[in-house]
Amino acid sequence: MAEKRYGMLFDSNRCIGCQSCSVACRAENKVPEEVYRLQVRIDGPKGEYPNLVMDFARHSCVMCDNAPCVPVCPTGASYTNQEGINLVDAQKCVGCKYCINACPYQARFANPVTGAADKCTFCYESRIKKGEKPACVSICPANALVFGDLNDPRSELCLAMKRYTAKPKEHLGTMPKLSVIPNKRGGGQ
Ligand code: SF4
Ligand code: SF4
Ligand code: SF4
Repeated sequence: MAEKRYGMLFDSNRCIGCQSCSVACRAENKVPEEVYRLQVRIDGPKGEYPNLVMDFARHSCVMCDNAPCVPVCPTGASYTNQEGINLVDAQKCVGCKYCINACPYQARFANPVTGAADKCTFCYESRIKKGEKPACVSICPANALVFGDLNDPRSELCLAMKRYTAKPKEHLGTMPKLSVIPNKRGGGQ
């Protein structure tokens, strides 16, 4: 059996911009108020009445396979685990911010409580290890998020990705494991 390789899909057509995911993320991961691991950015309304559209974009770590945040770390605090999830070992982090500056998605921040670099973990410790879905995926009322194993072609994620999907900033060669179904209502990421 191959190792699991976790990924996520954000369907911007289903998203209604309710922010339940970002609120759940903050609660699940005790993210301080002034920083965030996840935001859903709302663009719009755009167009002309009555043809107005809204665009919703997820802003979080995209779990790069070729992650610029990992090799720049001088202590090994920024690392990739066996399941392809890029994580931070807060005990090893010296707060140099090299990883924060290296991330082309502006997905990392210095946690004001711990002083360590921080970002989305796919809820690895609190949920994935227990076989649960990430907090943001579980709470979404619009089923805009799908999480699963990219190595299992029968997973809900791989089946959903058969629809047209895009990778954020794919041209950078970072190989994100978070994919997006672009907004067909106008706008897009
Ligand atoms: S999005 Fe940024 S923090 Fe996340 S894996 Fe890629 S480079 Fe690292
Ligand atoms: S997977 Fe977990 S840490 Fe990442 S955005 Fe969702 S709730 Fe936050
Ligand atoms: S919970 Fe779902 S519908 Fe609400 S903002 Fe997040 S992704 Fe969009």
